[in-house]
Amino acid sequence: MDEWTTIIGLEVHAEMATASKMFSRCPVVDSGEAAPNSAVDALSLGMPGTLPVINRQAMEYGIMVGLALNCEIPPINQFARKNYFYPDLPKGYQISQYDRPLAVDGHIIIELDGEPKHIRVRRAHMEEDTGKLTHSMGGSLVDYNRAGVPLLEIVSEPDLRSAAEAEAYARKLRSILRYLGVNSGDMSKGVLRFEANVSVRHQDDAALRERTEIKNLNSIRNMVKAIEYEVARQIKIYRRGATVKPATLGWDEATQRIQVQRYKERADEYRYFPEPDLPVVEVSREWAAQIKSKLPALPDELQARFVDDLGLSAYDAGVLTAEQAVAQYFMALVELGVDAKVAANWLMTEVFRLMNAAGIDRDAIASIPLSAQRFAGLLTLAQAGMINQSTARKQVLPEMWTSGKHARQIVEERGLAQVSDAAVIGDIVAKALADNEELVARYLAGNEKVINALFGRIMGALRGKGDPAVVRRVLTEKLAKLA
Ligand code: ADP
Ligand code: MG
Repeated sequence: MDEWTTIIGLEVHAEMATASKMFSRCPVVDSGEAAPNSAVDALSLGMPGTLPVINRQAMEYGIMVGLALNCEIPPINQFARKNYFYPDLPKGYQISQYDRPLAVDGHIIIELDGEPKHIRVRRAHMEEDTGKLTHSMGGSLVDYNRAGVPLLEIVSEPDLRSAAEAEAYARKLRSILRYLGVNSGDMSKGVLRFEANVSVRHQDDAALRERTEIKNLNSIRNMVKAIEYEVARQIKIYRRGATVKPATLGWDEATQRIQVQRYKERADEYRYFPEPDLPVVEVSREWAAQIKSKLPALPDELQARFVDDLGLSAYDAGVLTAEQAVAQYFMALVELGVDAKVAANWLMTEVFRLMNAAGIDRDAIASIPLSAQRFAGLLTLAQAGMINQSTARKQVLPEMWTSGKHARQIVEERGLAQVSDAAVIGDIVAKALADNEELVARYLAGNEKVINALFGRIMGALRGKGDPAVVRRVLTEKLAKLA
């Protein structure tokens, strides 16, 4: 397969989480909850005589995304009519943007195996979403709740070279949209939709080959599977000596296969022309600057801070910044005085494990039964040597999670304070050596690993509360004396 390279460009449709639709006051509702056609107005239904009015909030959200993706925001952008008929588009045209989009020439940084790579973003333009068709019982049902919802289309250059890169791009973009608060990223509700343009390139090729476009990708996982399937299909076609025809394909989840939906139309078939019912939109430099000044710290910036200022590895910083809520929880721990590496470690192992077991998504970390304050309390006790690591992890933390108690209270109630007193530990070590003559003999005969078994017995006698460093030191000293 090595003579073939995968070429992918992604087109991403992201609904903007505004209160009302792109061109009218009609409210935007949750597609999973609202009754079909309960949020429609004359404009959503494409009634003659209705006139669109631009939703300023949607434009601001779009500009925020453009800025966050390092795009230029041209001073003027313009809506255009994209003409085609489909039952989910009752006007017979979609208001979109064509040659004067909201944002151009940006990039997203993805990271694979620790190597950052810039993926160019060609453009982002604003448009209106269509209704939703459901095919069932030999007919089709249409719900216009979604019709007219602001939709930002973000188009990458064909810079992605594998399904894994496409996945990293999709996750990074989703993360940025969520940080900005303009989109929930909930693909199951269709508020975020990916289309993958795929071609393959032979090592001897000078130019890119024809591409196909895969739609109906309702999860990132399916996108990855569909791309892999399509790459293999195209290589097979070329190896046969045939050629790949440009086409719109659908991923069929049930059969895990690609299906051809239609052979592709060209842009001129849409008869784009400037939307006569809307003015051009001027984005003054002041307006753009004002929006820029309100952008939150984004994942790349936080990741860099976690690496440069807090000494985390790039990998850990990436995991902790993928979700804003996790980054905030982590930063709260650090602000409460917990060592950054200790906080990162505990968060990524212990807390994520408890969350997984309870079926809590990472983005819901703010609602776990362990506030950053109480968790910091536990880590501070462990850092100060009041309890040892294993007591903290195995006994105190689970009880904090279920009871909501503070670490200190649990330590007092259950007598879990760490034993560091060398005299107390000395007595217990002496007793353990006397009780385990056989192990001691094996140790003295040169089997050094036996020391771990002795250590375990001593910790057991201390009910796990011994200071491991002191126990190990006293044990080694006493054994040395026997030798
Ligand atoms: P259109 O304007 O007809 O939708 P574009 O050429 O502008 O098509 O590209 C649409 C998407 O397809 C972009 O994401 C782009 O990166 C991607 N793309 C273009 N050419 C190829 C190719 N040969 N292989 C893979 N993706 C491609
Ligand atoms: Mg397209």
